[in-house]
Amino acid sequence: MLRRQAARESAARTYARALPIVPVRARGLTIEGADGRRYLDCLSGAGTLALGHNHPVVLEAIRKVLDSGAPLHVLDLATPVKDAFTTELFRTLPPGLADRARVQFCGPAGTDAVEAAFKLVRAATGRTGMLAFTGAYHGMTAGALEASGGAGDVRVARLPYPQDYRCPFGIGGEHGAELAARWTESVLDDAKSGVPSPAGMILEPVQGEGGVIPAPDEWLRRMREITAARSIPLIADEVQTGVGRTGRFWAVEHSGVVPDVMVLSKAIGGSLPLAVVVYRDDLDVWQPGAHAGTFRGNQLAMAAGAATLAYVRQNGLAERAATLGARMLAHLHRLTEEFACVGDVRGRGLMIGIEMVNPEATRPPGATGPHPPAPSIATAVQRECLRRGLIVELGGRHAGVVRLLPPLTLTDEQADAVLDRLTDAIASVAA
Ligand code: PMP
Repeated sequence: MLRRQAARESAARTYARALPIVPVRARGLTIEGADGRRYLDCLSGAGTLALGHNHPVVLEAIRKVLDSGAPLHVLDLATPVKDAFTTELFRTLPPGLADRARVQFCGPAGTDAVEAAFKLVRAATGRTGMLAFTGAYHGMTAGALEASGGAGDVRVARLPYPQDYRCPFGIGGEHGAELAARWTESVLDDAKSGVPSPAGMILEPVQGEGGVIPAPDEWLRRMREITAARSIPLIADEVQTGVGRTGRFWAVEHSGVVPDVMVLSKAIGGSLPLAVVVYRDDLDVWQPGAHAGTFRGNQLAMAAGAATLAYVRQNGLAERAATLGARMLAHLHRLTEEFACVGDVRGRGLMIGIEMVNPEATRPPGATGPHPPAPSIATAVQRECLRRGLIVELGGRHAGVVRLLPPLTLTDEQADAVLDRLTDAIASVAA
């Protein structure tokens, strides 16, 4: 079956293309292949499955809609299911946005919500260009793609995203973050910089696909100041960081920054496709029909999403992600001392990255700082994890970062099993 699908589908298909698994059953952290093998799934639908696979409250919510006789397709009409979803969503929004929020259903994917956000801020400001950051990932449609460094069709100015490990300025820490902020400021202040008059700035509070790079809180606050001073709407892309994953319900909450616009998808649909853009009401310049679409009223996704949002909130899963994530990071940090090929370990909550490097690569004499990224070592670690029944994903500018995005329902025992298998896999590659 794997070979037949490989012949039928484009090789461009997503993420898990390297995983030789035909999933047939799943529950929680565990996924079972057609060959009967079971795996611990730390990819979680690329961070979608906040409650893991087939959580009972999610299944129950979906079943309830199916059994109720409610229409499954309703375009954008108001329904009790949609009402329950928006009520739950608004309950979770950061203070400062919650009381003045509007929501626009987009759909069905994160990239659609990114496009909607771009369109909204362009309409609201009358400007066209966008500001985005090095290493960003926002999706695969034209505008989102351009903001991700690809070949899209929106004019995007790319500004430095601060990071400690491979600091673009070679200094890292708060100094690197401050320099990145000043760089942004000076580019915006320079009339000759060629930066288009920006309609908005889009950023990820933690870059996910870019290699799990948490933005320093201070830098986020500076971006808020800089954009506010210039009346540039700030768009937080929380597609991957949202719904408790980083240890707060929304990752911007760590810094106290209140964005003007939030782009949400993945976990908000409780494992089904759902994407929304949430924004402050004064940006709502859209006339009726300005942003239409056939599949924006997915009743099953809204029901699954409402159940997920409520479960995460009521069971304190964001706090749980913070404590469990800190414990896992502490364990993984020790690996940087044990194995020369583990260059860096970083993350926030249950969004964790391990950057594999090549300590044996020849470098110019006197070179300091990190060793070169090692995508081949990361791929080998991924393969060895799979052999041990653990699914992890790769990311980063050079695909040299092993990423963990386990469900927030991960138990202590499961976390230990994940760490054991991962450590063992790294040891086998380093040997
Ligand atoms: N933004 C971020 C931060 C993402 O991580 C992703 C997907 N990984 C997207 C947008 C695009 O979402 P989708 O794949 O659903 O289009």
